Amino acid sequence: MSDLSDKREQLVVERVPKGLLIGGKWRPASGGREYEVEDPSTAQPLCAVPDAGAEDAHAAMDAAAGAQAAWAATAPRERGEILRNAFELIVERQDDLAVLMTLEMGKPVAESRSEILYAAEFFRWFAEEAVRIDGGWKTAPDGNGRIWVMRQPVGPALLITPWNFPTAMGTRKIGPAVAAGCTMIVKPAHQTPLSMLALAEILGQAGLPDGVLSVLTTTRPGDVCGPLLSDERLRKLSFTGSTQVGRKLIEQSAGNVLRTSMELGGNAPLIVCEDADLERAVEGAAIAKMRNIGEACTAANRMYVHASVAEAFTGRLAEKLGSMVVGRGSEDGVQVGPLIDEAGRSKVDELVRDAVAAGARVVIGGAPLHDRPGYFYPPTVLADVPLSARLLKEEIFGPVAPVVTFDNDDQAIALANDTVFGLVAYVFTESLRRGVRYAESLEAGMVGLNKGVVSTPAAPFGGVKQSGLGREGGTVGIDEYLELKYVALDV
Ligand code: NAP
Repeated sequence: MSDLSDKREQLVVERVPKGLLIGGKWRPASGGREYEVEDPSTAQPLCAVPDAGAEDAHAAMDAAAGAQAAWAATAPRERGEILRNAFELIVERQDDLAVLMTLEMGKPVAESRSEILYAAEFFRWFAEEAVRIDGGWKTAPDGNGRIWVMRQPVGPALLITPWNFPTAMGTRKIGPAVAAGCTMIVKPAHQTPLSMLALAEILGQAGLPDGVLSVLTTTRPGDVCGPLLSDERLRKLSFTGSTQVGRKLIEQSAGNVLRTSMELGGNAPLIVCEDADLERAVEGAAIAKMRNIGEACTAANRMYVHASVAEAFTGRLAEKLGSMVVGRGSEDGVQVGPLIDEAGRSKVDELVRDAVAAGARVVIGGAPLHDRPGYFYPPTVLADVPLSARLLKEEIFGPVAPVVTFDNDDQAIALANDTVFGLVAYVFTESLRRGVRYAESLEAGMVGLNKGVVSTPAAPFGGVKQSGLGREGGTVGIDEYLELKYVALDV
């Protein structure tokens, strides 16, 4: 690493406001508590941010409730323009924002930049949706009276985001909430607060009024979110994270019968049929596996490959993944960064060991890289993975591709659906008929047909089964932040 990139990195971190944003003011946590944010590629601290507690949560709730009525009354065009301004500012600052994200999260800068642009697109998309909130008007079936339906903002929303996509998981919630006219309290993951603080600053500069958005950074999520979820003024919870935590939050939301949106864990199958274009399948599998170092809810977690092409596919995938450069995300040419922390890496290691003990064969990789600081794990391909292996049932969240063979489509569909998760599934086939059958039979909220990436702001993103409730993005994304009100008219 050169001195220049060191200095640039320092500057990028220094520029981020290190405060809780409450009522338009940046302030320390009550009691002055702070915690250190770490660079996962060095295991060294980057800076300190406030460690919010219950008192700060109350203050943020006061700000959100206080700003709600005036915010809901703003013109849709004004809310849209704020989002559009924020979109422009993010695009303008994409380089610095990408370096910042890489420093706290680890992914290579090129991937961080893609996330920044993807994140910004949610603001552009919802800037356009803000002015399209419609309603209904009809004559009652018996001709007596009219039925008028309007859509209004749900009200103050708590938005909880994960560390793996620190900016995009925020804009996917903030975009529709702003467009709909909801005030917000955002709690980013403790590992990646800086990207959210930088985003909040941009939204202020884009014209978001004071109090509409609060940001609480904390290492005590229960202490901060518990009081918010039991506060009657909160009307909405949108959560992206693990199914385990999501389940707990749904229980906590029951007290106040909150509207909830849940974007939870995945266990995506990737199916390669005997008639697949192998080059396309290997490309798609590499992206579906390695995007975000495998730390994505959409990551291909289980690869089911027809027995007749399994050897060729596995060999080509191993060659492709094995050639990827592992290193610090800010260094030139690096394609695979570190995992988020030691707990994340240990889990990947444990799952690989379990599979190998059960009979899986290591084609490449297979053990953590302890020859450097940080939490590195190399791209790994496992063949002959037995169905009993834990990594076919649990999210791996790392760069490990387990390959299992199948003999016919019915078997592949049954294997793919044999999970409590249902976020996304990928299928590679050159037959339209077969592709349609898979798309209709797979229990998933999204299907990638000959494609390793499905995410786009223009489509409804979300899962079925224990992968979640509700959808983010597309024309339905804003519905999560709107309530229907029906007015019966006697005319
Ligand atoms: P996580 O442990 O569930 O944490 C997610 C967020 O919840 C973090 O902000 C975390 O805060 C917070 N949290 C933890 N315990 C909480 C509690 N008791 N009350 C309130 N908030 C609490 O998940 P993660 O490890 O950050 O993210 C990875 C998971 O997210 C994976 O399962 C992945 O599949 C899922 N994900 C899903 C989608 C999707 O769209 N479906 C997208 C991305 C990721 P702390 O950081 O302080 O623990």
